[in-house]
Amino acid sequence: MSIAILSTGTELLKGTILNTNAGFLCRRLAAAGLRPVLELTAGDHPAEITAALGDALRAADTVLITGGLGPTRDDLTLDAVSRFFGLELEIDPLLAEKVEQFWSRRHDGRRAPKTVLRQARVPHGATILPNANGSASGIRIDTEYGGRMRRIFLLPGPPAELEPMAEESVIPAVAAYEAGAGHEYTQGFLAAGCGEYSVQLRLEKLLRDRPVELAYCARPEGTRVFISGSAPAEVEAAVEEARTELGDAALPAGSLDLVTAIAALLEKRQLTLVTAESCTGGRIAGMLTDHAGISSVFKGGAVVYSNELKHTLLGVPEELLARFGAVSAECAEAMVCGATERLAADCAVAVTGIAGPGGGTPEKPVGLVYIAAKVGEELRVGEFHFSGDRRRVRESTAARALLLLFGLLSGKEGQTFLPPPQKSLRPEER
Ligand code: ATP
Ligand code: MG
Repeated sequence: MSIAILSTGTELLKGTILNTNAGFLCRRLAAAGLRPVLELTAGDHPAEITAALGDALRAADTVLITGGLGPTRDDLTLDAVSRFFGLELEIDPLLAEKVEQFWSRRHDGRRAPKTVLRQARVPHGATILPNANGSASGIRIDTEYGGRMRRIFLLPGPPAELEPMAEESVIPAVAAYEAGAGHEYTQGFLAAGCGEYSVQLRLEKLLRDRPVELAYCARPEGTRVFISGSAPAEVEAAVEEARTELGDAALPAGSLDLVTAIAALLEKRQLTLVTAESCTGGRIAGMLTDHAGISSVFKGGAVVYSNELKHTLLGVPEELLARFGAVSAECAEAMVCGATERLAADCAVAVTGIAGPGGGTPEKPVGLVYIAAKVGEELRVGEFHFSGDRRRVRESTAARALLLLFGLLSGKEGQTFLPPPQKSLRPEER
């Protein structure tokens, strides 16, 4: 019993479209305790699809194939797969009617062209998986191959069609016949502010003798730690041991995201938050609003890219800007204070820096960023030097701003997990 995922689409191999389908299927399978043994992508050519299907069937009994079920010339998956197993394609009358109706609703009652009716073809003996969100149905083929029973699922490429179909017709079916196969249980958490390598060093030694597997995913705001094993109790025990080892850095089990943790802390303390962003241009507000339900604590923010707006929107004094410059600890502090006052919130985070590639000077090089966070009367300002290109500097800035806020909100700041800023500047130190 094993599962492989085969995505089809030349656009995936060119990088024009990110393969979110494979990620979605892996996540849904993981939630059901199942892990594919292989995941591969083939271009829109019968020979490539056939070769990849051969590889998938050498590795697995169940193959989930996505893409290429539509009516256009590059939609070859159904033909290639049917030919591979020697199955005749037959027009299904009910499906033909559905395709006709779908077409006619979208084309002023006209009849569907013949090519569109290609989507009503079903391999002999296969099962149709209904598609409520598009015209191409999914197909399930149960067939013998290489002396064993195989299950092949053909799923449409558009995520809005694939995802509901997978939820309804694929994952439950796969979970049912994979029941009893070696299930895998995974639990994860974020080690906030921790580097991947240092986390690995600490955890590998600690959990060496346990029957669990560790995986790490480096993120700008820390490292996501995933622990898997066949027994949920073993995994949970290992997660707790790992979290204890990492101390304050570890978010609760199952918590992979800093914004969720920040939202929970704000909620618990009944505090509101605003943002004041220069070099990140709204990225921090964007990250916060990715979190559904943030409106109960996040009021909004100001993107103050120019000195003029720093002054007019947030009240940063013109003399301060002239004397210290916009990229300064003084400006970050004035921004965070201006934000809490003018936007009337309990907490704020403010960033100002030089993201590059231009604009750097010997005194203020590219990557220099000042971040300020304020929670009630408590205020912190830090000076940071980030490396990398513009995108990386902006990503690091947003992540570090959220870490600074998280530290201040949770009362854990200053402890080992927060990589200290190059300079921590408290008001009394200046
Ligand atoms: P259609 O009827 O729309 O042609 P289809 O089943 O033939 O559907 P494809 O032609 O392979 O699917 O893909 C249609 C669109 O779906 C792609 O242009 C792309 O936007 C999206 N898509 C396909 N495969 C993936 C994937 N693996 N991950 C994310 N998006 C995908
Ligand atoms: Mg297509």
